[in-house]
Amino acid sequence: MGEKRLVYMDHSATTYTRKEVLDAMIPYHAENFGNPSSIYSIARASKNAIDIARAQVAKALGADPEEIYFTSCGSESDNWAIKGIAFANRKKGNHIITTKIEHHAVLHTCEYLENQGFAVTYLPVDKYGLVDPAELEKAITDKTILITIMYANNEIGTIEPIAELGAIARRHKVYFHTDAVQVIGNVPVDVRAQNIDLLSLSAHKFYGPKGVGALYIRKGVKIDNLIHGGGQERRRRAGTENIAGIVGLGRAIEFATADIEGHNRRIRAMRDRLLKGIVEKIPHAYLNGHPEKRLPGNINISFEFIEGESMLLWLDDEGICASTGSACTSGSLEPSHVLLATGLPVEISHGSLRLTLGNVNTEADVDFVLDVLPKVVSRLRDMSPLYQKSGKEGGCNVQ
Ligand code: PLP
Repeated sequence: MGEKRLVYMDHSATTYTRKEVLDAMIPYHAENFGNPSSIYSIARASKNAIDIARAQVAKALGADPEEIYFTSCGSESDNWAIKGIAFANRKKGNHIITTKIEHHAVLHTCEYLENQGFAVTYLPVDKYGLVDPAELEKAITDKTILITIMYANNEIGTIEPIAELGAIARRHKVYFHTDAVQVIGNVPVDVRAQNIDLLSLSAHKFYGPKGVGALYIRKGVKIDNLIHGGGQERRRRAGTENIAGIVGLGRAIEFATADIEGHNRRIRAMRDRLLKGIVEKIPHAYLNGHPEKRLPGNINISFEFIEGESMLLWLDDEGICASTGSACTSGSLEPSHVLLATGLPVEISHGSLRLTLGNVNTEADVDFVLDVLPKVVSRLRDMSPLYQKSGKEGGCNVQ
């Protein structure tokens, strides 16, 4: 018997760590284990390694190295940006603007702040998941201290008009934070040109290690610390540095941003062939998110008359790793807040599948999914009384 095939199409949940990145990290778990706060030479080696990584991240974002702070993950970066701005600027105002489709790292932080006396506006999105810049401008008041809008959505892949939203924030002298966790390596970022004051990222989404992220904080931004303690990260984020992780993040961002165009071309071509094949073979299929303004590897598609969780289990049985929504919500039977915000009815949102392609995928993977997925959907529909009643005629919204 041959080995079972494994097709990983969940790159938005996490990626593997590149071999070159791992190789760069290992010495910092072994001979270069010094604490960068110490003054002997192996400690200096650690400190130098952090400086190099900081410069690598700064270059990828169009920032200065002094504007980059290392954290433990994307969630910490989001928490720091939002709580840090809220508490430091409380005297100026208590109003925060975000959207209904943010990751829970942002939404739950905003809900926490509401309990602390802050007022939060959750902007709606259109059927593609896009924020309307005019709606943002209307929502700003003289109490608004922060606008936090994600760069690209982790579930439906929609890419927001960040430069335009940032320009509105700048015009009104309101701090602008963006959760860019899904975009590094997929979309070119330039914090200056895009009027971004704070930006969150996380290494495990772009072929770096888990447990390390970064927050860009523009020089001059007034922000409180989130983690108090020692004087690491220029007294702004306490805790002995995760040196190997930081080195890995630096190398990973360098690789991820070296040829974004070429990477996108390859991933997008596979993604488009997969999407075309799915809608040709499976009736009653609806693409979620924007047809063009979307992350290159993202497909989020709803199949009427079936239940997403069962689909995932059957796909897993065939060796296909996919997701129904974000990694954090899979496993719960709550409908996705993102799909609901786009106006998708609850019953249809339950039958949605997210496939996110990335570096591990090949054309053979696309063929395999195109062979397996229609059979899985058809088997599940055969068990669905609603499908039996529907008459089985149906279309899709993808051309
Ligand atoms: N923000 C977005 C848009 C994400 O997709 C994720 C992870 O899925 C996070 C934040 C949280 O990142 P981390 O897992 O590094 O905490």
